[in-house]
This record gives sequence, structure tokens and C-alpha cells, in this order.
Amino acid sequence: MSQWQSEKMLTAFLDRDGVINRKRPSDYVKSWQEFEFLPGVFDALRTLKQHGFRLIVVTNQRGISLGRFSENDLAVIHERMQAELRKAGGELDAIYYCPHGYDSCDCRKPGIGLFLRAQRDFPDIRFSNSFLVGDSVEDMEAGERLRCRKVLIEVDGAGIASLLARKNVRPDFSAPSLLEAVTNYLIPSPGSGAGEAKTAKETDEAGEPDEAPTRPMMSEIHNKKPLP
Ligand SMILES: [Mg+2]
Ligand SMILES: [Zn+2]
Repeated sequence: MSQWQSEKMLTAFLDRDGVINRKRPSDYVKSWQEFEFLPGVFDALRTLKQHGFRLIVVTNQRGISLGRFSENDLAVIHERMQAELRKAGGELDAIYYCPHGYDSCDCRKPGIGLFLRAQRDFPDIRFSNSFLVGDSVEDMEAGERLRCRKVLIEVDGAGIASLLARKNVRPDFSAPSLLEAVTNYLIPSPGSGAGEAKTAKETDEAGEPDEAPTRPMMSEIHNKKPLP
């Protein structure tokens, strides 16, 4: 990929549990047997890839620090997850995880250490050109610090809205699933090819130059169904 192309790339930072796979009530996902993809995730990730997004998972995995599972267990889960996503055409570009407990590192979300590590690995990442999709207060707080677009997934309508309001953190968009967030917010017209024909002249609010024609314009994305 040329430098020019890579500079145009949008990045979707994705939380894992509660966004890609189902959360386990009061427990961690400790093995592949306990890993269950949420409905629509394959379609969602494939669609994002088709629209030129870079896909990066950033996930807190405190269960490692508690000894509930090992880093090797996690590696196995992620290998299997990637294999399934690859088959579906929605492979992730990278996965970053924090294995630590509370207050012992700068990488556990809402810390942004993992995002900065991603930016070191992919130097063209612009957080102003990025989305953070997550289901927790910590995700939205990290997004706030990064000044990227914050997308809240509420699988069961769990309602952390009041918590977020108290912290004065407002998602840019909310949806009950990753797929709905993708089709209604991250990309303009999924499946119709409309997003690929856009060659708008506007620049996004960070003043970046025009997007490549194969990618949605940030301004269009931003203007798509904002929250009231
Ligand atoms: Mg989560
Ligand atoms: Zn950490």
C-alpha cells in the first residue's frame, strides 16, 4: 500500500466483548468454547473492510491478571476468532489487549496506551479519522480522550447512558449492534455501492485532504444521523 493511500485510511477501533462477541454474565471468555460471535458481526466487519477501513481490536482482559486464563489462552482465542473472520472476509488488522488489573498500567481503557501503541505500529492513524466502537463507559471515555468518533453498542439496551451523562461523555452514535452501527453510521450506503461513488470536495474537520473516492468522506459520516 502506498503512503498516499494509507494516509487516507479510516480506522475503526473495536472493543471485543459486547461488540464482536457476546459477553458472559459475571465471567470472562476464557476459551474458544466460551466465545460466541454476536449476530451480524461477520457482515459488519466485511462491509467495513470493503469500504477501506482498517480494523483494530482494543480490549481489556483483566481476567489474565486474576489468573482466570493465560495470555496463551487468549492467543488461542484470537487465532480462532481471526480464522473465522478471515473466512468471512472481515479479518482484523491488529489486536491489542491489556492483561493488567485496575490502576496498574496506562493501557487499560479508559487509558489510551493501547491506542498509542497502535499508532506506533500504523503511523498513518489519525484519531480524528477514527471511530471507537465499544459498549462500556471506559470505551467512551477513551474515545473522548482520543477525540475520535464514539459509537456505543448496547446489545441488551443495558443503559449506561445515565452513567455517561454524569461523566459528561456523549457518544456520537448509539446502536444495538455493530452491524447497525456500520450500516447506519460508519458507512454511508452499505451494499449499494453509493459510498464508493462519493468524491465530495469537503475536507473533514481535522482539515485532512479529500478522501480517496473508494472511502466515505469523514464529513459525510459525521453528518449521517447524528444523535440529537
Ligand atoms: Mg466490552
Ligand atoms: Zn494494561
